[in-house]
Amino acid sequence: MAAREAPWRRLAGLSFGMYAAEEIRKLSMKSITNPVFLDNAGTPSPNGLYDLSLGPLDNKEVCATCMQDFNSCPGHLGHIELPLTVYNPLFFDKLFLLIRGSCLNCCHLTCPRAVIHLLFNQLKLLEVGLLQAAHDLEAVLSRFLEENRDGDIEEALRLHVEEVLHNNQFRDQGAPVKTVCEYRSKLISQFWKSQMSSKKCPNCKAGRSLVRKEHNSKLTVTNSTIVIQKSGKKTIVEEAASMYVLLICYKNLIETSH
Ligand SMILES: [Zn+2]
Ligand SMILES: [Zn+2]
Repeated sequence: MAAREAPWRRLAGLSFGMYAAEEIRKLSMKSITNPVFLDNAGTPSPNGLYDLSLGPLDNKEVCATCMQDFNSCPGHLGHIELPLTVYNPLFFDKLFLLIRGSCLNCCHLTCPRAVIHLLFNQLKLLEVGLLQAAHDLEAVLSRFLEENRDGDIEEALRLHVEEVLHNNQFRDQGAPVKTVCEYRSKLISQFWKSQMSSKKCPNCKAGRSLVRKEHNSKLTVTNSTIVIQKSGKKTIVEEAASMYVLLICYKNLIETSH
């Protein structure tokens, strides 16, 4: 009887994402501010990584959050407030590709505007499994460009995709997830390879800066400057102009405590 009355929902979709800082704070039982794990007597230090609010350390302790023992407590989240904005190490590679494909003079991506809107809308269609519609979108864009040379690409693609999504609302036409994921990865890798490697910015015509990454924690940008000497001879001087933030992660905090 009780089982029949249990509330239930049919799953329409599932997506994964990263927590925002505010969500992490809400989920967290405690802000970890103490670099010492254990005091001299070997008991967990308050506000340290072994704080009992995050769960008991062994069979002798009880969780300060759910009051359960070592075997029953599921463990609870804590968080560390970072003093600086830092890279998310999981996205460092993508960040590198984005900065490498950006113009550091006018802060635009160095690929044509149409390509960005095309990819953005293709991904939107793939989110609901509309593989064929995503595939056809390139032809829709080409047709639009032929007919309206100065038309608003962003608006045209947005309206087209809205219409497709609206027509699909009550029909279950989604392609198999594996095929959709493969096509999605293909579109994204094609974008990085063929669209984000232009030598000159199409927006302001500035030359591309050389961006290097070191140990997945630091990006160095080298700018070329033309120096005109007294004799009138031009020399290109390369200077490492900007060093971007260092990565501070959990590991560093743990290391500094020893
Ligand atoms: Zn607990
Ligand atoms: Zn530019």
